[in-house]
Amino acid sequence: MIVRVHGARGSHPVPTSKSRIEEIHKSIWELAQNSKANTWDEFKRFIDSKPRHLTQTFGGATTCVELETSLAPMPIFIDAGSGLTVACMDKASALQSPEFLRGKGEAAMFFTHTHWDHISGLVTIPQLFMENNRFHFYGVHSDLRGRLEGLFDARYFPVPFSIIEPRVQFHQIALGKSLRLGGIKVDHLPQSHPGGSFAYRFSDGKHAFVMATDTDLKNTDRPHLVPGDNIYSNANVLFIDAHFSPEDFINKEDFGHAHLFQAIDFGVRENAKMLYLAHQNPYYTDREIQNQLDRAWDYVKKEHASSKVEIRVAMDGDVIDLKKA
Ligand SMILES: [Zn+2]
Ligand SMILES: [Zn+2]
Repeated sequence: MIVRVHGARGSHPVPTSKSRIEEIHKSIWELAQNSKANTWDEFKRFIDSKPRHLTQTFGGATTCVELETSLAPMPIFIDAGSGLTVACMDKASALQSPEFLRGKGEAAMFFTHTHWDHISGLVTIPQLFMENNRFHFYGVHSDLRGRLEGLFDARYFPVPFSIIEPRVQFHQIALGKSLRLGGIKVDHLPQSHPGGSFAYRFSDGKHAFVMATDTDLKNTDRPHLVPGDNIYSNANVLFIDAHFSPEDFINKEDFGHAHLFQAIDFGVRENAKMLYLAHQNPYYTDREIQNQLDRAWDYVKKEHASSKVEIRVAMDGDVIDLKKA
């Protein structure tokens, strides 16, 4: 299973300003003074070895992840934040496949919940408006149709929902019930978040991807999880809410998001192989996000010295092969 991260920022999209681009250019120019690279590949390896905030951004599109696997009958998307707009133009995405561009594509889309940052990209993709493409919308919330239909209200969007209605099919996921898409098993659990959200686990029997964003991680201690029903454990990749730094979390305990150390404690406890820190605070600069990552590694060394967990910041453009995770 390949995981493509099209968007991972929290709460709202973050554009990259002209001054930030100039700052990155200057930083790369300064680094280049000490480079002995003769080719682009050598230079790329050189700059990729430097802290990420010095050479690029951590991305600013909101949540959208694509799963690519031959075991499912169609590509699978999780959430439709502004990262879905990125996906619809990404040559590597199924949305740019000949099938979708000819109007013969079919995709499944799972929704963790329907806060703006997880649905706003839906109305932006031309593939949704092309006759004969098919989209299957899955959600545990009982009124997913009404929630998404609201996006097409004439006060906010010029095209009525009735135009896309023949191309979409809603699938109500029964609370607590697993479902299968071909060889992929999909499980979910309710999470603690204003309005409610759901974590999803996608497993092919050998590898598992778990998406657990928009949660403050309350009620996830062992007594609250039914034995054998813990979808979080032993994931190859756990995409986890790490919205706040521990300091910024103070007085924001009821915002429905976790802080860095909570996310790490949780990921280590659940034996994740790779922990992707997601839903980064949209007000954090690249330097502050780099600081979150540096602190994460220091914290693991200090508090979970025996853990072999790998930690990354989830960002637009990440491509993760679960076989290698
Ligand atoms: Zn969110
Ligand atoms: Zn939310």
